[in-house]
Amino acid sequence: MEYFTPSPKKGSESKSKLISRRAFVLTSFKFIFLATIISRLFYLQVIKKEDFTIKADKNRFRSWKLNPSRGIILDKYNHVIADNFQVFKIAIIPKEIKSINNFFSFLSKIINLEEKEINFYKRQISKNNKYQPFVFNKNFNWKEFSKINYNIQDLPGVQPFVSYERTYLYPYQFSHILGYVSIPNKDDLNKLRSDYIDVPNLKIGKIGLEKNLNETLLGEPGSATYEVNVFGKRVKQVVHKDGVGGNTIKTTFDKDIQNYAFDRLKNATGSVVVMDMLGNVLCCASSPSFDPNKFTYGMNEDEYKSLQNDERKPLVNKALTTVYPPASTIKMLVALSALENKVITNNFRHTCKGKVELYDQEYHCWKDKGHGRIDLNKAIKESCDIYFYEVARLLGIDRLNETAKRFGLGKQVFESFFEEKEGLIPSTLWKKTTLGKPWFLGETMIAGIGQGYMKTTAVQLCKMIVQFANGGYEVNPSFIEKKENTLTNKIIDNDDHVQFLLNSLYQATNEPGGTSYASRINGKMKFAGKTGTAQVKKITKYERDRDLKNKDLPWKFRDHSLFVGYGPTDKPQYGITVIIDHGGSGSAAAAPIARDVMKVIFEKEKKLNNV
Ligand SMILES: [Zn+2]
Repeated sequence: MEYFTPSPKKGSESKSKLISRRAFVLTSFKFIFLATIISRLFYLQVIKKEDFTIKADKNRFRSWKLNPSRGIILDKYNHVIADNFQVFKIAIIPKEIKSINNFFSFLSKIINLEEKEINFYKRQISKNNKYQPFVFNKNFNWKEFSKINYNIQDLPGVQPFVSYERTYLYPYQFSHILGYVSIPNKDDLNKLRSDYIDVPNLKIGKIGLEKNLNETLLGEPGSATYEVNVFGKRVKQVVHKDGVGGNTIKTTFDKDIQNYAFDRLKNATGSVVVMDMLGNVLCCASSPSFDPNKFTYGMNEDEYKSLQNDERKPLVNKALTTVYPPASTIKMLVALSALENKVITNNFRHTCKGKVELYDQEYHCWKDKGHGRIDLNKAIKESCDIYFYEVARLLGIDRLNETAKRFGLGKQVFESFFEEKEGLIPSTLWKKTTLGKPWFLGETMIAGIGQGYMKTTAVQLCKMIVQFANGGYEVNPSFIEKKENTLTNKIIDNDDHVQFLLNSLYQATNEPGGTSYASRINGKMKFAGKTGTAQVKKITKYERDRDLKNKDLPWKFRDHSLFVGYGPTDKPQYGITVIIDHGGSGSAAAAPIARDVMKVIFEKEKKLNNV
């Protein structure tokens, strides 16, 4: 420290010169030293002030976005069908966790976590932004949640919190049509508003109405700021901004009808759709099903894979997504088109000998012996195929295409329902532009019995029958209750045609010899409809000669069973479609289910009207 504490030597000029030189060096040095300190202080206090303030606050406060409660879904009688239940969850800030392995080894000591689960979370955490909360897609029970809270000082970076999770009250019954919610993926996040980013435990609708109405159901996120201690534990809440809950949605479903229809489908693969005469959907059940709560409460990979690999496809909505040949259910439409185009009259007769030959190709009626000479009424009632080959031959595919499109076949029934398929109503132009081939007459004939290229969905067929039963008015089916829904647009030009065909359907179900006579409803309120048996596999000559029964084939080659109907017949109020995949004939599988569902509807109707 010689420079700073020099010991001056007395009594000589040279000494004094030496002293003043030393003093100069010393002063300069002091000045430089001071300037450095001042400039450093200036830098820290003025230039970097903001950074330091934030860092200091970060040690004391934590801000969280708050997940708004998702809108509740009601049925038409205000019964809750989708609610939000309180759940206990944890989140971690990955950056604040020194060793993820140590973290999990400690956590698995206090709560039960499987090795597979841990590995899954480790992968997920590694993909998460390390500064943003990672929420475990798992709901903890109260005991687990308490243990985590009790040990929070040994779990730095962990934040336990209480949230609300979407819960379906009739999970299997409504799974396909309500859909489910789950964690948004990157694409989903890109479509969301920026204030939804980094909302812990945010779930969005992935399929069904949950997806279709996601924006309405979602609500607005809130936020909360907490003061925390050195372990990151919340000490007190300092700011709280409430979010806005999502809107309550009142649907057109009748939970009793939906639940009954689903139970009635039992182990079958297929769907039941019921609409009123305005197109309000009372029931849209699909089987087999799955538990949508598992998507919110956590489903393991094995469970998901087994759903995906099931040949009966439980994740698919059979009413909207699966397309089927309409089979004989199309006959009422073929007849209407032929009547409107004046190709035939009500009295048109034709002879069925069980088969007909055209250009070396044989076309068969389901009744080997043939129906003999029959008219339009009997051809519908007994569902003669030969009669309708002939009507279709006279009508032509393009005129049939126009009528079918007018009734809503071959196009989506609902607005922007992403899983709904269009199906297909062919035409000569369609075949030329899509397949690059000319149309053949034989293709027109099989279109007359709803086979060949023609594909429809259960909801399309339900819309079709409703538009017959309501007297020929267009409906725009909906799952959401509309304030005004009146019938204004008539899509037929002669009421007599429709009345004639409804009468034939009445006979098909309520008079001996009709294809669904075995499924009639006795009593004051009756129902009526048309069966359909859709071929999945062409019957070979070998099989026909040996009279091989459909039930002898493997399940996936058996015919689909269809029924479309309406009731009560004296004053139509409801239309119904039942389709059973590989269920055999329409009269065997679909018609009895339609009858039972309609019976329940009638009973309910009687109670409501005190009849
Ligand atoms: Zn026939």
